Amino acid sequence: MSLLEVKDLHIWFDLERGGELHAVQGVTFELAAGERFGLVGESGCGKTTTILALMGLLPPSASVSGQVLLDGVNVLARGERSVAPHRWRDVAMVFQGAMNAFNPVKRIGEQIAEPMELHGIAEGREARRQVGELLERVGIPAERAQRFPHEFSGGMRQRAAIAMALACKPKILLADEPTTALDVMVQAQILQLLVALADDFGLALVLVTHDLPIVAQVCDRAAVMYAGEIVESGPTDALFHAPRHPYTRLLFAATPDLYGTEEVASIPGAPPRLDRTITGCPFRPRCDRAFGRCVGERPALKPVAAGQAAACHLNDVPQEVPA
Ligand code: SF4
Repeated sequence: MSLLEVKDLHIWFDLERGGELHAVQGVTFELAAGERFGLVGESGCGKTTTILALMGLLPPSASVSGQVLLDGVNVLARGERSVAPHRWRDVAMVFQGAMNAFNPVKRIGEQIAEPMELHGIAEGREARRQVGELLERVGIPAERAQRFPHEFSGGMRQRAAIAMALACKPKILLADEPTTALDVMVQAQILQLLVALADDFGLALVLVTHDLPIVAQVCDRAAVMYAGEIVESGPTDALFHAPRHPYTRLLFAATPDLYGTEEVASIPGAPPRLDRTITGCPFRPRCDRAFGRCVGERPALKPVAAGQAAACHLNDVPQEVPA
């Protein structure tokens, strides 16, 4: 049995002007214990909304259907009552931009101790001791627990946010664009730290990012999201070397290499609005391989190779055999 199974997850938001926005559309994936999984796509594709649902942190305007099974138990079954016992304890999150994770008027150490106290893991002197250990483990001297968030650099705050996420020794760590807004050197250090901690703590890691090469570097498997749905998933090696969806291929081509030596091709156009009904393939207006069938028929996510699935009609077309 998988550690985490997300099955046919749909999320809608009520809009103030009326109507709704279908932000996540039938997302399904699994995560094994200790696995490193990437969720990739442009902003607005539904990846952050998906992981906020796993934490039970969606705003009240959201409606959710589907299942999130943690060790076989559906944590969405009774809303907040069934998610709260697992939040931070089994599933923890490093938020995008660490400043958002901390209360600016409370000391870092107090805030890291909060999830421990909430779940009855430690309090008082013992909690302070564990906070010091966690800070040291992420590369921050323990005495800095007494400092306020604004006294930390961006990279140090992100390290402290990782320490807070590890406070209850969760089974799953969700990291939402954990290196955004950090310079390249610090980005590399934070990614190395996440990988090292995932190994040391035996954590399963879900890395959410727009940066496919980062996923290829860190993750065993990944899913590419577009317009609220998964359009391709599989081992990162296969996605990198043999993508079966034009969006995956273009996403790689649109990412600069580390040295900026290769020409970067942008993906023309913009993703479709999710408050409107989409007919046919959602990627069609931007796709360089679109053909007649793509106009009226939405492609389903289907297996295309060992462990790899894609939602593209091209995979139903017999491939040309070289003469
Ligand atoms: Fe492009 Fe058609 Fe495949 Fe959609 S189904 S990605 S439009 S080729």
